[in-house]
Formats: sequence, C-alpha cells, structure tokens
Amino acid sequence: MKLILLGPPGAGKGTQCKRIADRYEIAHLSSGDILRAQRAAGTELGQKAQKYMDSGGLVPDDIIIGMMIDAMKKAAAGYVLDGFPRTVVQAEELDKALAEASEEITGIVNLQVPDDLILDRLTGRRSCPQCGAVYHIQNLKPRAEGICDRDAQTLVQRPDDKPEVVADRLKAYHEQTAAVVSYYEGRGKSVIIIDAADDIEQVTASIFSKLDVLCSRVG
Ligand code: ADP
Ligand code: AMP
Repeated sequence: MKLILLGPPGAGKGTQCKRIADRYEIAHLSSGDILRAQRAAGTELGQKAQKYMDSGGLVPDDIIIGMMIDAMKKAAAGYVLDGFPRTVVQAEELDKALAEASEEITGIVNLQVPDDLILDRLTGRRSCPQCGAVYHIQNLKPRAEGICDRDAQTLVQRPDDKPEVVADRLKAYHEQTAAVVSYYEGRGKSVIIIDAADDIEQVTASIFSKLDVLCSRVG
C-alpha cells in the first residue's frame, strides 16, 4: 500500500501514521521527522532547512522533493507519507515521480480538525528525542509524567510547538497546504475524509475501517 495522510499540523498525522504503518506493515515516511534527523546529524540539508522550520514556514520545495522521493524509493514494502506533499508543486512532482516509476498511490486520507483544537494539541505535544514516540500532556499521557514509556528518555517539547510559532505554521497550512486536497480532488482522486476532532482511538478506528477496504482491494 502507498498512502498519503493530509491534514493541518496537530491533526494527528504522526500519531495515526505510526498505527497505520504497524497494521499494514509499511514504512512511515514523515518529512518533518526526516528533516529533524538531518538537523540532528548536522547535514547540509538539515542546516538549509533550519531557519524555515524554526520560523514556522515551509522548507523550499526543491529541498523536500528529492529528499522524500529518495525515501520512497527505499520503502519497498509500501509507505504512508506524513507531511508530504505540503504544496501543489510538491504534489505535482510526486505525481511525476510516481508516473515515471509506473506506480500509483493506493489511497489519500485527509484528517480534518478545526483550528481551535490545534493550539492545544501542539502546545501540549511532547516527544521522545530518542525513539520519536509522541505524547500529549492531557490526551495521551505517558505512564510516568515527562518520561517515554518505551525507553525512559525525558520527553521534550518541539521548539516549533511554542504558541508564537504555531500561529505561523497554521498560516502556512491555510495559505500553501490546504490546496493540496483540492489538487487531488481536481484530478479525480478520491480523498477519504476523516473527522480528526474525535479522540485518538476513534480516529484510528475510522481510518482502519476505510483502509481495510482499500487493502483488501490491492491484496
Ligand atoms: P501531526 O503529526 O499532524 O502534527 P501529532 O500526531 O503529532 O500531529 O499530534 C499532535 C498532538 O495532538 C500530539 O500531542 C498527540 O498526542 C495529540 N493528538 C493526536 N491526535 C489526537 C486526537 N484525535 N485527539 C486529541 N489529541 C490528539
Ligand atoms: P512537521 O513535523 O510535519 O510538523 O513539520 C515540521 C516542519 O518541517 C514544518 O513546519 C516545515 O518547516 C518543515 N516541513 C516538513 N515537511 C515539509 C514539506 N513537505 N514541505 C515543506 N516544509 C516541510
């Protein structure tokens, strides 16, 4: 299966993609996670991305597209894309790369959530610097406060989850990313709409019920 998960920052893409990747045994390819890993490793790509990420803006398309297409090529068992494509140019380039490889996306899922829920979700998000597990201070608490269940590391808040940066990330979503849904619809692709304002388990159940049908079709 080759899936795309769309939605604003804080919609729950990372949370749900991890579960989708486990259930369908495919790779979880998060552009944000790959960029953060590049930054942590101090690569040239990571250094170029830094100022855009810190300000809540989007990293230029030419940096992102090659990075994600390389990751997709390595994911032989299939993948779920998280955070990519985030502009219409990225969606067009993704389509070109898929056509060149004679491949197709199996399904596109759009997580819908109103802006007023997003600030709380992002400012309350905590993640494990070691394994990348994502928690929330109220909605998805670790067993011991501030400590990762999996590897006992101290959880951290992403610098771009501070309220002043969240506003700019939401602006970037509305100005540049929301149009990606219309791009796919305009090209006759069906987009599965999920109400992501529900609680985490309900959102997972809604996604799985739709994807199980797709999965049984592709075998
Ligand atoms: P995204 O990858 O779309 O930016 P995340 O999956 O990291 O979003 O979720 C953002 C925050 O919101 C995390 O702290 C997560 O635990 C929490 N969260 C995710 N989905 C839900 C939900 N359906 N209801 C409440 N909180 C959620
Ligand atoms: P995320 O982890 O998806 O919230 O992404 C964190 C940040 O990485 C974003 O605010 C952007 O600066 C950058 N980023 C991630 N994915 C993309 C993308 N597809 N295009 C441009 N910038 C991206």
